[in-house]
Amino acid sequence: MKDATRCIIHPTVSTEGFDSLAVPVHRASTILFKDAATYAARTQRDLDGYSYGLHGTPTTRTLEAQLTALEGGLRTVLVPSGQAALAVVLLTVLMPGDCVLIPDTAYPPLTGLCRGYLEPRGIAWRIYPADGAGLAAMLDPSVRLIWMESPGSTTMEVQDVPAIVALARGHGILTGIDNTWATPLLFKPLAHGVDFSMQALSKYVGGHSDLLLGSVTVSDMDLRRRLRDTMRMLGLGISPDDAALALRGIETMALRMAHVGAVALDFATRLQAMPGMGEILHPALPGSPGHALWQRDFKGAAGLFSVVLPERADPLLDAALNGLQTFRIGSSWGGTRSLIAPMSVKSSRTIPHPRNDRTILRICIGLEDPADLWADLTALCTALGLDG
Ligand SMILES: *Cc1c(COP(=O)(O)O)cnc(C)c1O
Repeated sequence: MKDATRCIIHPTVSTEGFDSLAVPVHRASTILFKDAATYAARTQRDLDGYSYGLHGTPTTRTLEAQLTALEGGLRTVLVPSGQAALAVVLLTVLMPGDCVLIPDTAYPPLTGLCRGYLEPRGIAWRIYPADGAGLAAMLDPSVRLIWMESPGSTTMEVQDVPAIVALARGHGILTGIDNTWATPLLFKPLAHGVDFSMQALSKYVGGHSDLLLGSVTVSDMDLRRRLRDTMRMLGLGISPDDAALALRGIETMALRMAHVGAVALDFATRLQAMPGMGEILHPALPGSPGHALWQRDFKGAAGLFSVVLPERADPLLDAALNGLQTFRIGSSWGGTRSLIAPMSVKSSRTIPHPRNDRTILRICIGLEDPADLWADLTALCTALGLDG
């Protein structure tokens, strides 16, 4: 064998006695076939087999299987971002002439996808109120999918998922949910009959603000096949390195979620007790929209909640935020670092509500010592005149 050939053919070493706790990272585009007949039959491989790196490696399959188990589903597909997960579901279900119903409180880039991509291609979308009022009257034969997001983006409204699923099923309509806030640790949509459970793995699963990934889990093989068909045609797949980061993140997710959930609820409760405070939007607080539904359906609360600022605090906000010591200013969330993001929801909402006109501080609790975070938050409240 000449050296140039030797450079290309890697020696095979024994894996005997090597049993690592870490999931191996398998990088691959080409998959080899043991003989000509197997190669000729490659298109008959079922979707759980290996045909090309884009369509799965043992690393990505491990993440799929782990998410499937946590979600209590049958199969999971993995895509490069949470937004791609939303897109893959909608592009799989909807044909020209069809309609999707979206809650008013959805992650705004979802309506961006509907308005900017689907609508010009003849797919309709309509907004319904997060509490489902009037939803039944909106159902007609063009409606193929009812989307949900619970709690809602920034304003944290909890939806009545079982009721919406029952309504949809009665009309042969599919349902899907953005379960990024709760993760399957706190809410299992498939157990309530939801057809597509979607997560931005970029948040709590990744857990360290350095990963972009999305997943969709289903309980039905045909839906899984249709999702995979869409992904194959669009050329969507994920890197095994990213899958390995997600698998590492999942190992600590239960502990991280329990911690940030407890700290966030403690802070939300203490903030609510401040005399000059605005409305606190946290599903576990009585009075927060959908609190009773949260109590009925969720196992706990995550580390993300919001504060509606009274109007008088607006002129003080920039200086107050600039004085933060431990919190950083930023959107996205679910990492180790605590974040505060001043949000305005008005431009992304169609159904009027008084809080849509207010500045809303979205607070993501991370893993810093709670005493440092509370010192920062109380200083912020003082600077905003909310503490008395
Ligand atoms: C972040 C987020 C997404 C999008 O995820 P990306 O990976 O950033 O594309 C979707 N839904 C919710 C609720 C999110 O918070």
